[in-house]
Order: sequence, then C-alpha cells, then structure tokens
Amino acid sequence: MKATALRLNKAHYPVTTLGHGRRIGLWLQGCSIRCKGCVSMDTWDTAGGGEVDIAVLLAWCEEKAREGGMDGITLSGGEPFDQPRALDALLDALLHWRECSGRVFDLLCYSGYPLGTLAARHAALLAKLDAIIPEPYADRLAEGGLWRGSANQPLVPLTALGQQRYAGQAEAAAEKRMQVAVEGGKIWMIGIPRREDMARLEALCAARGLHLDQVSWRR
Ligand code: SF4
Repeated sequence: MKATALRLNKAHYPVTTLGHGRRIGLWLQGCSIRCKGCVSMDTWDTAGGGEVDIAVLLAWCEEKAREGGMDGITLSGGEPFDQPRALDALLDALLHWRECSGRVFDLLCYSGYPLGTLAARHAALLAKLDAIIPEPYADRLAEGGLWRGSANQPLVPLTALGQQRYAGQAEAAAEKRMQVAVEGGKIWMIGIPRREDMARLEALCAARGLHLDQVSWRR
C-alpha cells in the first residue's frame, strides 16, 4: 500500500540557493548517514520533525506556486531515501501535479548515499527525479561546486529537463549564496555554507554579545 504521510523537518519557500530559480524546499526528517561536519544535525533524529499528510503538503506546494511562482522543488533533509515509501508517494504526487497543471518545474534531490547504491536499491525513485546530488558530505575533501558541500558530490542530471538546467554547473562555484529566514521563533539558514562560515558567524555574533544556542551544526 502506498504511504500517505512522511516525516518532515521543514517546508521552505521561496528557496533560491539550492537549485535552479525560485523553488520550494522540502527537508525530510531523519538521517542514518551522519556525516562528520554536517550542518543539519537537527534533521538526524527519525522521531524529530512532524508527520505530514502528503496531500496536505501538496496543497501547500500548490498554494505557494500560485502565490509567488515556482521553478523547481528541492528535496533534502535529512536523508530523503531513508523514507523510500514516503518519498515514492511524494514524487508520484508531485509528478501528477506537474502533468495535470502543465507547470514546468524540476525535481532535484540530495542524498548522502553513493549513486551506485541508489541505482541498485532505488532505481524506480531515481527515475522520478530530474537531477540528484548524491554522496555523503566529506569534510576532509575540498569544498564542492555550486549547491554542493564537498568535492566528491556530483550534480547528476537524470532527464532532459535536468540536463537543460543542471549540466555544466560545476564551474559556477563562485555563485554560492546562503539565505536566512526567520520563522516560528527560529532562524533558518538555507544553502550550502563555505567551510568555517558557521564558526565565523558565531564569532561575529559573540563579538556583539550574542550567544547562539541550540544550533544545528554542533551538539
Ligand atoms: S550531510 Fe546530509 S547525508 Fe550527511 S549527515 Fe547531514 S543530512 Fe545526513
């Protein structure tokens, strides 16, 4: 039976720092990979976040796209492929919406699993995406290109639309940006920080007498 709900950390809109154009960001809750240096440790706990009905989440996406436009949806987390049944149901809902609405939007997904592992275990899910950024974050390696944390993470187009939007992005590393949003009494950082950015942010805040507590990049 198809999943009807998924465990979500946060839905963001608009997202302009993780993929082509103006996007919706869906961060799935739970990650078993636990890379050293991960800046999203708040997404690790499989019991964290909240359970969301996929139909309700789709209605929220439709509303945001209607209100402000939308070029794509970025799925991240957390580890989306740690909820394969829920991810499958979500992708089916998004693809059905795309087909029925005539909207042109791409589906870009992050995963900490190697591409070979995804291809072996989740080929049917990969077939529903336009592009994927696989491989775990590796803080021992050089920084990654645009939209990526470390140099081992490729940006892999999977469809013609993915090819059109994401082929040849590697050289655009200079365009890396971060967004900041304030919502629900929390500050949300959206994007891929450069190495030491979070330490620099903490130092700048401390110099102004502001202590950052309960942050997602350390425990
Ligand atoms: S970087 Fe991604 S895959 Fe790695 S621990 Fe963090 S959320 Fe999980």
